[in-house]
This record gives sequence, C-alpha cells and structure tokens, in this order.
Amino acid sequence: MSRTRTPADAAPGDPLLEAEGLLEVDGLVVDLPVAGGAVRVVDRVTFDIPPATTVGLIGESGSGKTMTANAVIGLLPDGAATGGELRWRGENLLQASPARRRRLRGHEIAMIFQDPLGALNPTQTIGRQVGEILRRAGLSRAEVRRQVLELLERAGVPEPVTRMRSYPHEFSGGMRQRAMIALALAGNPALLLADEPTTALDVTVQARILRLLRSIQEDQGLAMLLVSHDLRVVAHVAHQVVVMYAGRVAERGPTAAVLAGPAHPYTRALVDSVPAVRTRTALAHPLPGTPATPANRPPGCAFHPRCPLARERCRTEEPQVRSVAPGRWAACHFAEELLQR
Ligand code: SF4
Repeated sequence: MSRTRTPADAAPGDPLLEAEGLLEVDGLVVDLPVAGGAVRVVDRVTFDIPPATTVGLIGESGSGKTMTANAVIGLLPDGAATGGELRWRGENLLQASPARRRRLRGHEIAMIFQDPLGALNPTQTIGRQVGEILRRAGLSRAEVRRQVLELLERAGVPEPVTRMRSYPHEFSGGMRQRAMIALALAGNPALLLADEPTTALDVTVQARILRLLRSIQEDQGLAMLLVSHDLRVVAHVAHQVVVMYAGRVAERGPTAAVLAGPAHPYTRALVDSVPAVRTRTALAHPLPGTPATPANRPPGCAFHPRCPLARERCRTEEPQVRSVAPGRWAACHFAEELLQR
C-alpha cells in the first residue's frame, strides 16, 4: 500500500515544498525538569519564518529565546518536554524521529553559535571540518577541496588555500566565526539559525560579520533565525522581530514598524535603552527593574512589576498575544493605546 508523501519525502524544487511555509512555530511549549516539578521556559510561542526572511528573536536573559532556537534545531536538554507544533515545510518536527532530526540538522537547518571555538574541533584543520559534510555526501577529493575553498571565500576568509590548513586556535575570533559560517553553509541549508553570533566579538568585527550574514542571506535567499539580546543587531539584520519576555511572546511584527512604534511597553523600554535605535532621543534609559524569569513569573502580565503603564487589571489578568494592527501582534491589554501615542 502506498503512503501519502510528506515534505520529508520531497527533493529540492518539489512543488510539495512550495505548498507550505518554511518554519511555523505554533504554540510551542518547552518544560524543563527541576527538583520537584518542571518549569515552563517556553510558553505558547507562535511565529513563522517565511522563505528568504530573517526573523530576529530578542529578549533579555531568561526570556526563552535560546530555548526556542534549541527546540527548532532539536538540541533541547535531556528530560525536556515539548508541546505545540514546530512545522518544517508542513512536517511537525516535535514528532520526528531522532534520526530525522539529525538528518535535518546541518543540512536543511544549520546553526552558528556564539562560541565558534567551542563548536569547532580543535584537532582538525578548518578545511577538513568544512569539508566533512561534503565528504559524507560522497563527493570526490578534488570536488570537496574546490567547494571548501569556495565556501571559505564566500564566508570572507582571506587566502583560503593557506587558511584551510590552519587549526581553529590559529584563527582570530572573527575569522573563527567566518569558518563557522562556511561550515554551516556546507550543507546548503534553507534555514540558518544564528544564536548570538557576534556577542563575543569586538564592535568592528561584529559589524563585518553582521554585514556578511545579511549579504549571504540575501544572495542565497536563505531564511535566518537570529537570536540576540542586542536590539541593534536585530535592527540591522532582521526583517521581522519577535520580542520575548519570561518565556512568552510580548510582541512580533516587521522590525522597522515595531522599533518605530512599539505596541508593548517592554519593546518600548528595550528601544529606549538603545539610543542608536530610537530616533526621537539621543539619551539611553536603562531597562528598569529585574527581568522576570519563567521560574519566577509574576501573576497577570509578567512585565507588570517593571511596566510604567501597569494598571490594576495587569496584576491579575494575563494578556494574550493578539493582532493589534495589520501584521502586528502584541500581548498587552493596552497595545492599541500605545500604538496611538
Ligand atoms: Fe504593561 Fe499592563 Fe501592558 Fe503588561 S498588560 S505590558 S503591565 S500595560
């Protein structure tokens, strides 16, 4: 008996793939075990990543952004329980076998980490590591070498013929991140997941790596999920932004519209904390108060102890994410008021 074909059966170019969005995160829940129970570190998170689009996932530490990214790549800690759906071209990855997740990882979905030194193998040359996935695909030695050189060049590694013989410790931080990008591109992914890719780098190198990521995304029509705590990074690279707070989505929408007129007081506080992002003022106002975390989430709106606009209702009633303008969603009882200011 023949079974129904799913996107997992489709080859690149198959119309079956075009019928679905690329990645749809739909009501994603992640519970982590703790002594005596579990903590919901990702709570009903919903957004999607259309093809050839960069989505920035932003929030303070403990907001659940990295855990959301880890769920997408299939690298959650042992004992984590998940709910909702993570649809990759229509296929729910939360139901996929570990073998299927492994096959996707590094091929269709690739990842760049904050610490390339920890992600690269110190005992192998850069060329060997970038070529690994190509060798496994059965390419000849000459073809592997040709493609490795091309990948290193595309990632902006100078003198690739020489540098492919170097070991990770012989590279500077920025150059290691470029090697990591070459390695991520080797599997010809459709989605690149970049978790704080420039946090460990100095400001000048950061700007170069961000420009590189943006040009690769545009040239190759890649989709990208960019996780960052830095609004300037997201403002520079992302078409869409998802703002997370205490494991939940606070606001999402097109980056330019969200930053120019936030619909959530938390986004507004983030914007006000970065003078370069906000055009109305040159002064930065540090975020007030202590971030709530999923383990100590206040009742009602989790942001209410820090919110300058909080009212009685905010202390008891949790705001749900809802459409507040075309293409815009926010979880604030008074989002429309904020948009009209
Ligand atoms: Fe502030 Fe209330 Fe909106 Fe929460 S619901 S962000 S406390 S105004």
